[in-house]
Amino acid sequence: MKGNAVVVGSGFGGIASALRLRAMGYEVRVFEKLSQIGGRARVFKKSGYIFDAGPTVITAPFLFDELFNLFGKNRKNYVKFVRLDPWYRFYFSSNSMVFDYSDSIEKTKKEISKFDKRDIDGYRKLLKFSEKIFNVGFLKLSTTPFHNFFFMIKQIPVLFVLKSYLTVFKLVSKFIKNEQLRQALSIQPLLLGGNPISTTSIYNLIHFLERKWGVHYAIGGTGKLINALKKLMIEEKIDISTNSSITKILTKGKKVVGVEINNKEKVFADKVIINADPAFTYKNLIKSEYNKKWTKKRIDNLDFSMGLFVIYFGTKIKYPNIAHHTIWMGKRYQSLLNDIFDKKILADDFSLYLHRPTATDKSMAPKGRDCFYVLSPVPNLLSKINWKKKADGYRDKILKALEKTILPDLTKNLDVCFYMTPEDFKNDYQSLNGTGFSISPIFTQSAWFRFHNKSEDFKNLYFAGAGSHPGAGVPGVISSAKVIENIISNEIK
Ligand SMILES: Cc1cc2nc3c(=O)[nH]c(=O)nc-3n(C[C@H](O)[C@H](O)[C@H](O)COP(=O)(O)OP(=O)(O)OC[C@H]3O[C@@H](n4cnc5c(N)ncnc54)[C@H](O)[C@@H]3O)c2cc1C
Repeated sequence: MKGNAVVVGSGFGGIASALRLRAMGYEVRVFEKLSQIGGRARVFKKSGYIFDAGPTVITAPFLFDELFNLFGKNRKNYVKFVRLDPWYRFYFSSNSMVFDYSDSIEKTKKEISKFDKRDIDGYRKLLKFSEKIFNVGFLKLSTTPFHNFFFMIKQIPVLFVLKSYLTVFKLVSKFIKNEQLRQALSIQPLLLGGNPISTTSIYNLIHFLERKWGVHYAIGGTGKLINALKKLMIEEKIDISTNSSITKILTKGKKVVGVEINNKEKVFADKVIINADPAFTYKNLIKSEYNKKWTKKRIDNLDFSMGLFVIYFGTKIKYPNIAHHTIWMGKRYQSLLNDIFDKKILADDFSLYLHRPTATDKSMAPKGRDCFYVLSPVPNLLSKINWKKKADGYRDKILKALEKTILPDLTKNLDVCFYMTPEDFKNDYQSLNGTGFSISPIFTQSAWFRFHNKSEDFKNLYFAGAGSHPGAGVPGVISSAKVIENIISNEIK
């Protein structure tokens, strides 16, 4: 055995780190604050419905295969993925137009031609450019440690050629003329906590990433995938403790020596990997006199991602015309994003992401019923919105808008219905400012500028997950565990 390691938090980043360290020969213990593992990918089971709480879109499935392969096992024996088509259905509420963003490029071109034929060529060029970004941003940099400033400096020329100084929306607008298509093709950073109007255009790599590997769904839901990983962890003798909140990181000089659990028990470790929010961790779990870089003041000056308001609901009838993933676009785009991210006000209107897993998988709801969640990006808690007062009204507004457009008679057919607000993200996941995705993926908070995967202040403290490099989203957080593996392998060479 190489020694023992503790992983704090069991989101995808924590699970992937635990598995990678175990494969390297460490004794690994995972401590999770909540009563189940998975973090944002936990599951709510109610009245026969299975609601995935968070991530639903699986891209780059090989990243999961790799985790099983570490132990000579095959992911397919644990959980099945199916490829979706269309990937996303965009519904524009202003004119009821629909754009199916399809797995087939030919079908996508046909859909584009409904809006503007000239954009077919623009889309081809956008994809070509996003392949170039992908080759650097994903293949080269997403699993490379970014804790060396000179390494960052070396990347600047190539990032410049790839126009990383532009935003996602600006880059898409260079290729695409139609306003609605511009919106549909620039909205992806929202699923990672970024405002398309300010997120670095490096995130346009998502277009090519989706084309290369497709958009997948785990049969039984994302929770089934978490269970598959849990089974693997148990088989590989990783010790998992739930209801175990780390209340302190124990330090001795420049070394971390272990963690304190639920203000009581102490567990000592050679390596500590934090999958909890780094902003919360530096602010609350490590004595401030030891934080030279990530001081409270510095953390307060960071730009935080938006919050999420998520309504989980089941319906007594089926809505067979609703695709697995629907993006319901409101009338405003840039000014709505401005309200959410910059002005931090809760607007009367919204754009929504609607998830209907029962479109693919009947097992997610009782017979003859549909399972949904609808997500609205909202300002984070720096907005001072009083969710106790606002939440019910906001829920009703969203459900009414869906009823008027794509889910007729929804109110009458509602079965179970409950929601999560940014307050819940703060309380349940200890996400600073109640964000959905930790700090924003703007250029000045990416790569070297993001929370490093290896602490700047402590020799044996590491970070995996949304707040650290390369960033939020399932592929990102799983890649962060690979970065940690690289760092530790180099340290012990
Ligand atoms: C509603 C929603 C939809 C999304 N949709 C998608 C999608 O479709 N595709 C995609 O790729 N991404 C999606 N994302 C983003 C993606 O889910 C996240 O970026 C990713 O899952 C975060 O993983 P993580 O490893 O950072 O850990 P998290 O999931 O944030 O988990 C961290 C864990 O640490 C625990 N913890 C915190 N503090 C402590 C402590 N002190 N002690 C012990 N444990 C602690 C928390 O309880 C939590 O379980 C979505 C996110 C949300 C919220």
